[in-house]
Amino acid sequence: MVHRFLKTILVLLCFVQPVAAMDGLALVHGRIIDGTGGKVIPDGVIVMKAGRITAVARWNEVDIPPGAEVIDVKGKTILPGIIDSHVHSTASPAVRLEFLRAGVTAVCDLGSPLGSMPDFLESPGARGFKAGPIMTTPGGLPDAILQTELNYEVATPEEAGAGVKDLVNRGADVIKIYLEPWDGIAMLDLEQVKAIVKEAHGRGILVRAHVSKLSALNVALEGGVDVIEHVPKPPLRGSVLEEALAGSPDPLDDLFDLVVVPEYKAMLPLMVEKKVMLVPTLTRGLGRFHNDPKATEAQRVLAKGVLEIVRRFHVLGGVIAMGTDYYPEMPGAAGKMHLKEIKLLEAAGLEPMEVIESCTRHAATACGQGRELGTLEPDKLADVIVVDGDPLTDPSALGNLFMVIKDGEVVQ
Ligand SMILES: [Zn+2]
Repeated sequence: MVHRFLKTILVLLCFVQPVAAMDGLALVHGRIIDGTGGKVIPDGVIVMKAGRITAVARWNEVDIPPGAEVIDVKGKTILPGIIDSHVHSTASPAVRLEFLRAGVTAVCDLGSPLGSMPDFLESPGARGFKAGPIMTTPGGLPDAILQTELNYEVATPEEAGAGVKDLVNRGADVIKIYLEPWDGIAMLDLEQVKAIVKEAHGRGILVRAHVSKLSALNVALEGGVDVIEHVPKPPLRGSVLEEALAGSPDPLDDLFDLVVVPEYKAMLPLMVEKKVMLVPTLTRGLGRFHNDPKATEAQRVLAKGVLEIVRRFHVLGGVIAMGTDYYPEMPGAAGKMHLKEIKLLEAAGLEPMEVIESCTRHAATACGQGRELGTLEPDKLADVIVVDGDPLTDPSALGNLFMVIKDGEVVQ
């Protein structure tokens, strides 16, 4: 009788104690890809405590703290949480929760109304970094056409500098500017861009420029911006495209020879030399027509052309960060778009390890968070995913989620 009573107490203690006594978390026997692009650890251990990574090592090369919860993830792959470096209007906790459940542990919002900036505080969802509204000229894009209340308008270099100061004081993690040449609509000029970059860099903040047309790339690069958003396209006149396609055995080569203006070929090396990153957002751009059975022949060639620009930039040594250009009006996209983008980055010639880096380390850098996020290294924030399969043989395995960890806590 006493024996049974003691046994019951023991069982109860065993049941209660682990939860109360857990001190940290260790994932053991997983394949570790740490996001640095370095060697894979085939049988590794990662230890997390108080929201930070404390150790990443081979099995048996690290002492697991006695109080830590230990989870065996044999046969699975441990990676840094995925970071989507270009999204919009993600202040909503529900939207960011959707991202987190898909393994996207952080997003960088590159355009949301001024009033929503305070709402980006920590939430149960993905971490939300933000630019707030987009710096542009009075009456300029994007609001001139989209009317999305995204403009932060500045008329002079002085106003531009003061605007950066204001946005940073309101909590901006990065500065976003809009450089879109459009007939009859004014655009920021070189002096304004330089003033924005000077003020932002003085505060350790990156400047990210929307540049979808090649004719504005020069202003961005001369102005000193850090990241180009989208793939700046050369002028593609319909007649030229048809000419390129008509009876050509290799429409893509002809397309480049005919329509890629000579400056473009100089621009890519200049971007690389200036260490300017590219966030191509292929899923929302012309890249989306790649492998789309419903696309017309012209659309497919344009998609190939855009992927080719990304490929050439990459071959030259340019750094690419993953970003989807997500908008909340696209239902369900929060959990899926990054997987499409990953496929398109692969189609643009990135090796699987490079795709992983673009989703982790490089995306963290583009969000201004390279010191805290993006790799599995001691002292970094413990945002980690565990997936089935090996993303080095097939990057789409990044979608086979087994576990999502944010701040060292299992959330999924
Ligand atoms: Zn965007």
